[in-house]
Amino acid sequence: MDKIAFFDAKPYDREWFDKINNNKYEIHYYESRLRPESARLAEGCTAVCAFVNDVINTKTIETLAELGVKVILMRCAGFNNIALSAAKDKLKILRVPAYSPYAVAEHAMGLILALNRKIPRAYIRTRDFNFSLNGLTGFDLHGKTAGIIGTGKIGRVFIDICRGFGMDVIAYDPFPVENSGIRYVSQEELFKRSDIISLHCPLTRETRYIIDEQAIALMKKSALIVNTSRGQLIDSEALLSALNDKRIGGAALDVYEEESGLFFEDNSDKIVTDEVISLLVSRPNVIITSHQAFLTEEALRNIAEVTLKNFDDFLNGKELVNEIKS
Ligand code: NAD
Repeated sequence: MDKIAFFDAKPYDREWFDKINNNKYEIHYYESRLRPESARLAEGCTAVCAFVNDVINTKTIETLAELGVKVILMRCAGFNNIALSAAKDKLKILRVPAYSPYAVAEHAMGLILALNRKIPRAYIRTRDFNFSLNGLTGFDLHGKTAGIIGTGKIGRVFIDICRGFGMDVIAYDPFPVENSGIRYVSQEELFKRSDIISLHCPLTRETRYIIDEQAIALMKKSALIVNTSRGQLIDSEALLSALNDKRIGGAALDVYEEESGLFFEDNSDKIVTDEVISLLVSRPNVIITSHQAFLTEEALRNIAEVTLKNFDDFLNGKELVNEIKS
């Protein structure tokens, strides 16, 4: 029976992978993230299954290849954490390009509603029988402008949701979707006109720090920024500085540039020394969730199904439709 070393395993992963796998493959679950030091745990396995914050650098890839691992099964869409050139001719890399764009887009809208209408603050107050409304004023989304960066699968679902709220939608994408009815504008115009700005592009050399000091300087002082894509799309220090100076309305972040080692884990009894996130979480106009936008039953099922189907296809010599080419 072929074996899979499954890194960074969480109870919700195991539940769905065990259900879909149904004992077809021998899955060894490890809580540890995949990185050079832990890669040896994959000894005897044909595949490793990895996630967004695993460190799949040259050293990790070389160790896996030495051990005879043939394929890396990414159980996510993004692959910015893989040294692709090192994998060339050594290992195949397969991914799950889409598992539920609805999960992520709905979470993005949930974050905007929570941030704009200050729902977490109201929840904390009323649990303490504080029924005051002072400081909880938001604004109507209806009639406001939503600026969407990246009009792929998630961005387009998010656009539909915004339109459902009666928002005016503008978008920026270097590869516009033809005949989509989406109104594309320049990045500069998007930053200037939007009341909410939502990021739905991948992390690449071009998009790293797409929200930086200069971009923020163009935005309305009341603008809300939502990031459910990748942390490094935003220069967090520039964001913090803008929040401190009231140059921006607020931010809702499901991802953070230094999330690796923090997110997905309970750090409540530790001293978190990352000053930027410590200050961000303390701001009343910031909401942070821990890279949970994907976390729905439907997405977890799809992730397990596609990941295991990718492995089936690899073993059976079929066409690898979800291969990431190095
Ligand atoms: P997708 O590939 O369908 O769409 C990405 C879009 O971004 C494409 O239209 C592409 O043309 C566009 N793009 C590329 N470069 C750009 C640039 N420089 N500026 C603006 N747009 C650019 O991807 P998707 O499935 O919609 O996912 C979007 C992102 O969401 C992923 O890259 C991933 O980082 C993130 N994501 C996050 C979670 C989560 O749980 N928070 C889950 C899944 C995906």
